[in-house]
Amino acid sequence: KEELNIIQGALELRTKTVEDVLTPLGDCFMLASDAVLDFNSMSDIMQSGYTRIPVYENQRSNIVDILFVKDLAFVDPDDCTPLKTITQFYRHPLHCVFNDTKLDAMLEEFKKGKSHLAIVQRVNNEGEGDPFYEVMGIVTLEDVIEEIIKSE
Ligand code: ATP
Ligand code: ATP
Repeated sequence: KEELNIIQGALELRTKTVEDVLTPLGDCFMLASDAVLDFNSMSDIMQSGYTRIPVYENQRSNIVDILFVKDLAFVDPDDCTPLKTITQFYRHPLHCVFNDTKLDAMLEEFKKGKSHLAIVQRVNNEGEGDPFYEVMGIVTLEDVIEEIIKSE
């Protein structure tokens, strides 16, 4: 039965989209770009357990950087380094995808190896004003794999 589930999951990669598996923005552990890397913020980061942490400016929907926990290897909490110093040094590229991206295409992109986390956005054309890109959340390789191996 397990094999059937995996095959089923793999077949569904062609129909399901990143929107079906993303982690919503409200659930994301993120940092404000003006944060300072002191003892408190660095222990919060470590305790979150996440490897990749989106960095936002002013509002959570405005993701401007990604911090990798490994970027903190040479950061001393006593120095109270501004987070910007670190993100500007590493400048990891942001990888954005649209909400209707199919999971098989997403898997291919992740396999190309640029990054294993992407920011999911959609075009919001509700309301009166001009359409705008709206960030919905994040998707990682793990979310796609989970879709394949989940047993139901
Ligand atoms: P890794 O396993 O490569 O060390 P990780 O444990 O930080 O990375 P993933 O394994 O990629 O994270 O993802 C596990 C789950 O956590 C996924 O559902 C993913 O969407 C979610 N996730 C990843 N990063 C964050 C974050 N910063 N805040 C909230 N959820 C996250
Ligand atoms: P503009 O052309 O208005 O200056 P831009 O150059 O930031 O905007 P484009 O490169 O035209 O944007 O891409 C359109 C949208 O697609 C952007 O919001 C961008 O973030 C997003 N985008 C970038 N790379 C990818 C990708 N690999 N897959 C899906 N969407 C992407």
